[in-house]
Formats: sequence, C-alpha cells, structure tokens
Amino acid sequence: MKSPQNPSVIHGFDVLILGAGAAGLMCAAEAGKRGRRVAVIDCASRAGKKILISGGGRCNFTNIYCQPENFISENPHFPKSALARYGAADFIALVEKHRIPYHEKTLGQLFCDRSASDITGMLESECRSAAVKMFFDTRIREVRRTTEFVIHTELAEFHAPALVVATGGLSIPKMGASPFGYDLARQFGLKIRETRPALVPLVLEKKERNRYCDLTGLSLEVVVTSDRHSFKEKMLITHRGLSGPAILQISSYWNSGQTIQIDIAPDHDVTAVMRNLNVRNMAGARSALQRIVPKRLATRWLDLHAPSDWTNDALAELECQLHNWTLTPAGTEGYEKAEVTVGGVDTDELSSKTMESRRIRGLFFIGEVVDVTGHLGGHNFQWAWASGAAAGRAL
Ligand SMILES: Cc1cc2nc3c(=O)[nH]c(=O)nc-3n(C[C@H](O)[C@H](O)[C@H](O)COP(=O)(O)OP(=O)(O)OC[C@H]3O[C@@H](n4cnc5c(N)ncnc54)[C@H](O)[C@@H]3O)c2cc1C
Repeated sequence: MKSPQNPSVIHGFDVLILGAGAAGLMCAAEAGKRGRRVAVIDCASRAGKKILISGGGRCNFTNIYCQPENFISENPHFPKSALARYGAADFIALVEKHRIPYHEKTLGQLFCDRSASDITGMLESECRSAAVKMFFDTRIREVRRTTEFVIHTELAEFHAPALVVATGGLSIPKMGASPFGYDLARQFGLKIRETRPALVPLVLEKKERNRYCDLTGLSLEVVVTSDRHSFKEKMLITHRGLSGPAILQISSYWNSGQTIQIDIAPDHDVTAVMRNLNVRNMAGARSALQRIVPKRLATRWLDLHAPSDWTNDALAELECQLHNWTLTPAGTEGYEKAEVTVGGVDTDELSSKTMESRRIRGLFFIGEVVDVTGHLGGHNFQWAWASGAAAGRAL
C-alpha cells in the first residue's frame, strides 16, 4: 500500500515497525500471525532492497552451520538465545513451504536457484497473509513517546504501544542507509557501540599497491590472520588492494593501524623440493612456487623477495615469508563497498530473548542496527530472521 494522501490521517496499530528490510519483514509476519495489527513504515519505494542485491542477486539467505561463533558483538553471548529459537532450519522450512528452489554453494551457504526476489516475494506473502499494512515512500519526521509511540510522517500520524526499529546499518548509503536507527536509540538514551564498515575490501599503502595491484583480478586460496582471528578462503587482488572472501572476513576484525598476516601457500612446504636439489636457482624456485600460486604472482613474489643466496637458511627465510606476508592496510573501501556495519545499539541495553529495550518498555531493536555482525556466508540474514522472529513473537 502507498503512503496515505490525506495529511490529517491518524493510524492506530498494535505495533509500528520502522524498516521493511530482512529483520522488519520477518518481525511483521511473526507479530501479524499472532493477531497483532502491524504497520511497517519505510522510506524506500519497496520492501527488501538489500535482499534483492544480496548474494550477487541470488541471496545467500542462511548458512546450515550457523553458530553463535559466527557473530561479532561486544557481548558474544547475546545472539545465542535468538539463534537457538529461530535457527537456519526454521528459515529453510519457510523457504521449502513456499517451494523456493535453492542450493548449497560452499561451506553451508544456501542460495536461491532463481533469484533473490523469491525471498522478498515469500516475506511479502507472509506479511500479506498476516494482514500487515505496508507504507512505502514514507519519510519519518519525528518519533515521540507519550502514553504510546507516535510517529509523524509528512502525510500522517501513526500510534502504537510498541515500536520496532529495523532500519539497518550504514553500508551502501546510495541505497538509503543512514544513522537513523542509532540516532533514535540515542534519543531514547540507549548506548551505541562505535560503528565501522565490515565485510569490506582493504586498501593497501601506496608502496604495496605499486608492487602488487597491477595483478588485479588474480585470486588464490590463503589463510589470513589479524587480531587472533584466521580465515582460510580465497583472496582477490584489486586495483587498490585486496578483496575476496578471506579479506572480507578479516576486515570485520581489523582496526585501523593493525597488521594482517597472509599465508599465500597454506599447507605447502614450497621450498622442500629445492632443498633436495644440488642445483638451486631462481628458475627452480619459480617452478616450485608456480605449482602453488598463480604464475604471475609467483614471478612477482620472487622478484620482490629474491633470496640473497641458496643456502638452507635462505630457503627457510623464503619459506617463512611465503607463510607470513605482513601488511598494514591503509584503510578499507568504506561504507560504499561494505556489506555490513560492525557495532550499533549496545546489546547491554536489550533483552537477548525479545530484543526489547531494558529501560524503555515497548521499544525494540532488531537486525543490523544492533551490535551483532555476522561472518560472510548467510549469517547476517540469519541474524535478521532470528532477531526479527524473537521480537515478533514477544509483541
Ligand atoms: C551488497 C550486499 C550483499 C549482501 N549479501 C548478503 C548475503 O548474501 N547474505 C547475508 O546474510 N547478508 C548479506 N548482506 C547483508 C544483509 O543484506 C544485511 O545484514 C541485512 O539486510 C540486514 O537486515 P536489516 O533488516 O537489519 O536491514 P536492511 O535489510 O538494510 O533494511 C533496513 C530497511 O530500513 C529502511 N530504512 C532505513 N532508514 C530508514 C528511515 N529513516 N525511515 C524508514 N525506513 C528506513 C531501509 O529502506 C530498509 O528497507 C549483504 C549486504 C550487501 C550490502
């Protein structure tokens, strides 16, 4: 339904949900099914725009191995309750009920066979059958709390005893991401954990960029480590730095000024074959490394890290460098390229069972606006579904 045209319209509901994204839609459907009169208000022209662009248009909607360990939060215990009560299996059951074809790609990641619009269509259909009212293209001017929550938009006024904030994080400002949810939390006196872009490509310092970034497009399996966290996945060289799943994952843990360590030949003893040779030279080293990493990178690496001689000590040093390439990234590609936002509404402020504010009765925060951030691979949507369901069932 479009926004009401009559400026004097006053709408009364049981629940107002701000944001028709993943978390907001799930919450609306759950609350609607319980007989609550639910309104979802969104400034965008349609529901679930981020769902539509997710997973390269196929939406990696959950992960069959999703565990609390796949989430970053100041309080790592916080997501446990919601995830235990609405897990990957629950969302898969919903997808199957709607006969949406899907497949596992790698590492438990489930994608739609056809398109992400299957997921938005499913959630919209669940909302429709729960009689949820949707208001799009609706700018929120003011949120107040009297005996109820009161939302003023340009054209109408909405009232309800419960308000759910599901306005997401800061990633992709072009799609309308804004600090609205954090500002609203602050307005009601809730604390915010510092935010930063996550699941985001890293930019290299100029010196390293000059050394490697002409190899843009080249990809290889690595183990990348920072701040005591490691990921073994693909890394991609870009024209400004590094990307690919391994780098996106570590970016969520990386803070400005910290180093990252990259093992470009994990589980390989590259120089073993050379140690057994009588003739040791650059051609032998190149051929050994080219068996493991892409040829152009092998050549570049050896040009930049040529051993001073071919003694066992020099080979050991070369081996060590291959497994411990240490870099200090200049920064990240920022919210423009980030999939998610780390930080957000402090979980100390919320009930882990219902997502309701401990201090302000009837005020709920769900999805990415909360200080819970998933690893790459469907975990962020699983958090949106789980936190949305937790609030929806408590309303
Ligand atoms: C390119 C990309 C690909 C991704 N791929 C995946 C993937 O495959 N798997 C995965 O698990 N995660 C993926 N993610 C992350 C995932 O999209 C988010 O974690 C998830 O959408 C968060 O859900 P949410 O409901 O909290 O917020 P959102 O889905 O961002 O929804 C927020 C809603 O609030 C609305 N809104 C914002 N401000 C206001 C306001 N002031 N007034 C009214 N409405 C407002 C927005 O229009 C939007 O509809 C991807 C993210 C990006 C950017």
